[in-house]
Amino acid sequence: MRCEIVAVGTELLLGQIVDTNSSWLGEQLTTVGVDSHFQTKVGDNHQRIVSVLRQALDRSDAVLVTGGLGPTQDDITREAIAAVLGVDLVTDEAIAATIATRFAARSRPMPANNLRQAQVPVGCTAVTDPFPGTAPGLVCPVGDKVIYAVPGVPSEMRTIVGAVVLPDLARRAGNRGAIVSRTLRTWGESESGIAEKLAGRIDELDDTGAATIAFLASGIEGIKVRITAKADTIEAAQALLDAEEALARAVIGDHVFGVDDDTMESVVVALLRERDLTLATAESVTGGLISARITNVVGVSPVFRGGIVSYATDVKYDLLDLPAGPVVTAEAAELMALGARRVLDADVGLGITGVAGPSEQENMPVGTVFVGLAVGESVTVDQLRLPGTRSQVRDYATISALDMLRRRLLAS
Ligand code: ATP
Ligand code: MG
Repeated sequence: MRCEIVAVGTELLLGQIVDTNSSWLGEQLTTVGVDSHFQTKVGDNHQRIVSVLRQALDRSDAVLVTGGLGPTQDDITREAIAAVLGVDLVTDEAIAATIATRFAARSRPMPANNLRQAQVPVGCTAVTDPFPGTAPGLVCPVGDKVIYAVPGVPSEMRTIVGAVVLPDLARRAGNRGAIVSRTLRTWGESESGIAEKLAGRIDELDDTGAATIAFLASGIEGIKVRITAKADTIEAAQALLDAEEALARAVIGDHVFGVDDDTMESVVVALLRERDLTLATAESVTGGLISARITNVVGVSPVFRGGIVSYATDVKYDLLDLPAGPVVTAEAAELMALGARRVLDADVGLGITGVAGPSEQENMPVGTVFVGLAVGESVTVDQLRLPGTRSQVRDYATISALDMLRRRLLAS
């Protein structure tokens, strides 16, 4: 079963909005084991939509169109589908009545255009549920193939695709198997380094076809390793994934910090919770970025005591008890970790100090960062030399410090 995606909208071509619908739809198709071979973007132009739909129907079993279903003059997806099918558009009186009622309920006159949304190409089924009266989706059988049309508004699209399109596709696909994927999140190793470690396994998989492994560099958030497996059933595909994940972890090791939607901070918070530890931070170079990321995690309150943005040197002296002297040092980071822990009454203290730039400080070059961690009786300090601009240094320092904390917690 091959399904292809057509995203309609001139604004997609002009770069005014990003076609996130197609990405999401592509991901969904894998969950029902449907192959996805093409994604096309086309403007709001009747002839071009018709030609794209014809081509898609020609080479695929199912076509999933998003956008252009609204009430305005440039929403012409339903006309284009009618042209492709060679049928007329007829008004679905039930939908027309619902639209009229909706305007009446708000005591607003209804622009005639709105009734366009009640028009359905002959032979197609309008999907109004679960949005009675709004731009409905369409299911249009064409011989043993099918065109689905869903709204462009992402939330509406997702609901209709989940409720109607995916189940229908799965039914049409029969028991054709499932494709599942899992993304390992890694930090601290380059893309080429990870690729090298996995090269042997990727070659083996090229021969067996049981799974595929792909890399995605996501800048400051590390390298993502996406494993995709295909099998007759979801359960069998999941088992393949589990096996591949174990093999990948064996070679990538503790650079893997999480899976799928995990973030560095969500993983750190989970580790603190598991160990029943509270955290406090004292940040200089990162100016609160670590606290901000930590507090982004839902349910963090039992583990995060708070953070001190000890930016000025005398604040470090007065509030955190650092002795007068240089503050971009290993000793300063250590005392900041201990000071944060003491002042905020936490189990774990994190102190970070460094030079974000643009100019050096205390004869320390830009990118120098010290991270102190106080966990139980032990206090450790690591020194980093980070590349980039001021904001890159601060972002790298933030995720690096969180990663150090993660590793320390895993070891404790
Ligand atoms: P409406 O009833 O809102 O007119 P529609 O089905 O006609 O719905 P469009 O007019 O094509 O959809 O798009 C409506 C809005 O949905 C766009 O302005 C945009 O914000 C969003 N949208 C449309 N297509 C996409 C897409 N492919 N990816 C992400 N967002 C999209
Ligand atoms: Mg529209």
